[in-house]
Amino acid sequence: MQRRPGFPARLAGLPGPGGAPRAPRPVGPGLDFSAVRARMVQKLAAGGIASAAVLRAMGTVERHRFVDGALATQAYEDTSLPIGLGQTISKPYAVARMCELLLGAEGARTGGLGRVLEIGTGCGYQAAVLSLLAREVYTLERLHGLYDKARENLRPFRLTNVHLLFGDGMLGYARGAPYAAIIAAAGGDAVPPSWCEQLAVGGRLVAPMALTGRQQMLLVIDKTAQGLKQSVLEPVHFVLLKSGIA
Ligand code: SAH
Repeated sequence: MQRRPGFPARLAGLPGPGGAPRAPRPVGPGLDFSAVRARMVQKLAAGGIASAAVLRAMGTVERHRFVDGALATQAYEDTSLPIGLGQTISKPYAVARMCELLLGAEGARTGGLGRVLEIGTGCGYQAAVLSLLAREVYTLERLHGLYDKARENLRPFRLTNVHLLFGDGMLGYARGAPYAAIIAAAGGDAVPPSWCEQLAVGGRLVAPMALTGRQQMLLVIDKTAQGLKQSVLEPVHFVLLKSGIA
């Protein structure tokens, strides 16, 4: 098999079990990506992701199965990649960071993460990660082509706690409410009121938002018995939250 340049070279220098250099391995669809995935997890930890549960989930879900075969060798780089229809799979760090924030919700700290609503299924990668962290995952996608793609991608994993939904996430999904957490993978300029309404007391919403109409920032809203508490964290780059279905 022809070896692709670049990515496999990174594996070539890794010492084998006895300290001897390991032969370079060809990388292609169907091959085992567990070593590169483990390195991705190491980098996430070095980058500040501290939750063992999140690191375990990121080390378990095979990200290369959620991108086109031609992009599989880049699947464990910390980068977003095209998934069709002008959308992207989120960067691993962004997924890990947001999941870690969800686990920090008051309700999750005491009773574990219950029902989660994800806005923007895309290729289904983050939904798979969430399925390992939450009891139930409801995930909404507004583009039918991606809803179909996510269903195909997720089928082999047989994740019985993931509920794929086609619809406009701006409205949330009232039938599954209240949610222990809501996570958006697309950002607008204001948090839709339905999201706050559908959040449980003790629950947390994590979403990218351009509140001032300019730079997108990671936003955390905690719903407490006293009301909503908002924190604005670091700048982020997510695709646009759009209304309606297509
Ligand atoms: N969760 C994905 C990220 C997908 S990108 C991952 O695992 O990487 C964000 C997705 O949000 C896109 O697929 C886009 O179509 C979708 N989106 C944007 N606005 C939406 C809305 N109002 N309702 C549902 N999905 C929406």
